[in-house]
Amino acid sequence: MVQQALITPEWRCAKGIELRLSSRLFGRSAGQYASLNLGLHVDDVPETVQQNRARVARELPAQPLWLDQVHGDHVVEVGAPTFSHKSLQPPVADASFTRQVGVVLAIMVADCLPIVLASCDGKEIAVVHAGWRGLANGILERVVDKFNSTELQAWLGPAIGPCHYEVDHKVRDAFQNDQGFLKGRDSQHWMLDLCEQARSQLLVQGVSSVTASGICTACDDRFYSHREMSPTGRFGIFLWKTN
Ligand SMILES: [Zn+2]
Repeated sequence: MVQQALITPEWRCAKGIELRLSSRLFGRSAGQYASLNLGLHVDDVPETVQQNRARVARELPAQPLWLDQVHGDHVVEVGAPTFSHKSLQPPVADASFTRQVGVVLAIMVADCLPIVLASCDGKEIAVVHAGWRGLANGILERVVDKFNSTELQAWLGPAIGPCHYEVDHKVRDAFQNDQGFLKGRDSQHWMLDLCEQARSQLLVQGVSSVTASGICTACDDRFYSHREMSPTGRFGIFLWKTN
């Protein structure tokens, strides 16, 4: 039996929505990138990364729509898959949204918080790359604005946890509120809980149904952590509609 490279996270979402998560396992990359690195921008061998991407795509209904993620606040809306995503340059964006069946939305991360949003009627879905910059820049508000439905639910994936994520004034000052900023080693430092900050922002946007994976990427060896090891690879989350 061939082992599945992708994990199906626990998330009680609407029928017809599928979510998968990759890890470091079952790939071909070596050294600090071992082994299922999906990032082409981190100086790993490009041919090997393409083999890893192909391994993942075999367990998906279509090629995932990769993004050129830049810690910005742009959300790309994806229409019908009338062209091969593979032949295109990935859109420069940190979130993608679709109402189309069969479009596989994807986000790559290694410490930043991957967020999944879906309407409770299962008609609209989105994925978000939410590092501190994205959250501070209001990317969640922009994503929620794309939805017609006001009944949404969210899933927060593996990200660096408050046990490992020390930030200073530069980060603290970028935020309007202190949600998720825990006491640090002195008055100039905080331990940031990205999930708590995201939760509070989602609540303001009217999204109260939020499930978190509870995984810290620095604590859990199954996932890449940029802060634990640099350079390193990227794992991915994948979201699509089946009807
Ligand atoms: Zn940790």
